[in-house]
Amino acid sequence: MKKIYLDNAATTALREEVITEMMHFLRDNFGNPSSSHSFGRTAKTVLESARKNIAKQVNALASEIIFTSSATEATNWVLRSAVKDLGVKRIITSKIEHHATLHTALVLEREYNISVEYVPVLSDGRMDIDKLEQFLEQDIPTIVSLMHVNNETGEILDLNRVVKLCKENNALIHCDMVQSTGKMIFDLQELKVDFMVASAHKFHGPKGVGFVFIRKNTILQPIIYGGEQEKGFRAGTEAVHQIVGMSKALELSYLHLEKEEKYISDLKVYCISQLKIAFPEVKIIGNTTLYNIMNVILPLESSKIGMLLFSLDIKGIAVSRGSACQSGSSKPSHVLGEFLTVEDQQKPNVRISFSHFNTKEDVDGLVQALKEL
Ligand code: PLP
Repeated sequence: MKKIYLDNAATTALREEVITEMMHFLRDNFGNPSSSHSFGRTAKTVLESARKNIAKQVNALASEIIFTSSATEATNWVLRSAVKDLGVKRIITSKIEHHATLHTALVLEREYNISVEYVPVLSDGRMDIDKLEQFLEQDIPTIVSLMHVNNETGEILDLNRVVKLCKENNALIHCDMVQSTGKMIFDLQELKVDFMVASAHKFHGPKGVGFVFIRKNTILQPIIYGGEQEKGFRAGTEAVHQIVGMSKALELSYLHLEKEEKYISDLKVYCISQLKIAFPEVKIIGNTTLYNIMNVILPLESSKIGMLLFSLDIKGIAVSRGSACQSGSSKPSHVLGEFLTVEDQQKPNVRISFSHFNTKEDVDGLVQALKEL
C-alpha cells in the first residue's frame, strides 16, 4: 500500500541534502564546540557558520539567533523572561495560539499574578486586531504573543499591523513563526518583532532543534543554567548535527521557495476543486490562508468524526483534525472551537497540509478515501 502523507503542518520529511549534511557531522565531525582542541574548534566554526546562515535567511544579525531544542522551549523562555526580567505585567495573546504559548501564559499568570488578555477571533478565523488596539490603549507593561500563521487553519496574521500597534504602544511583540519560517519571506530588519521562534522540523529539517530571534539590545535571562554555551543564555552542549541540518533545511527552503510555493499552491487549488466535486457542500475554513495548509468541514454526519482519522489511517493516509497533540479527540480543537458555529463544530473537519513531496495522486487518494467514509 502506498502511504500518503498530508500532515506537513505537524512535521515534514527531511530533504535528502539535509540528511547528507547531518550524517557528515554525525560521522566525521563530532567535536564538542566548547573544546579547545582542533575537533572542538572545527565544531565551533561549523556552529557559527550555521548561525550566520540562518541569520542571513531572515536578515537578522548572527548575534540575534540563539539555538534551542524546539520552538516550545523558545516560547517558554521568551514569555517567562519577559515577565520575570523585563517587567511585563500583562500578556496579550489569543485562544487560538499553540499550547506552547497558551499553557505558558496560564502558568505565568498563576506564578507571577500578571494578567492575560485574549484577542477575540472573528467568525472567519481572523484576529480582531481592532480589539488588540483597544487593549493596547491601557498603559500596562505588555508583551503581545500572536502567531504568524495558525497551524490548524493556515490563517495568516496581519503581522505588520500588529507590530506597528505594539511599537506605537510600547508593547513587546513575540511571534510564533513556526508555520511561516521557510515558507514566507520576511526580513527581520524591517519586521520589527522583538522575538520570533521557529522549529526546524516544520521546514524539512530535523526534530528537536529550533531557534529564537532576540532583537539586539533586548536582554533576557536564561531559563536553563549550566555552561557558557549560546553566550550563557542556553546552557547545554549544542546539538551540532541538528543545527547544521536546520541551517541547510532553511537555506534550501528559501532557495526553492518560489518554485515550491507555486507547486504546492496548485496542489491546494486542485484539492479544493476535487473536494468540491465530491462534496459540493464542503466548507473551507479561514479567510487568507497560507498556500500549504487547508482545513475543511465535510458535510457528513457527526457520527463519522470518531472514526474519520482511523479510517483514513488504515488506508495509509495521514491527515489530522488539528494539531498533532489532540488528533485522537472527537471534540473540535481548541482553535476551531473558538470561532466555528456550533453546527459546523458538529461536523467532521480535516486539516490537509502539503509539501513539495506531495502529488495530485495523493490528493486523489485522499478524496477517494473520504468518499468511502
Ligand atoms: N507553534 C506552532 C504554530 C506549531 O505548529 C508548533 C508545532 O507543532 C509549535 C509551536 C511547537 O514547535 P516544536 O515542535 O518545535 O516545539
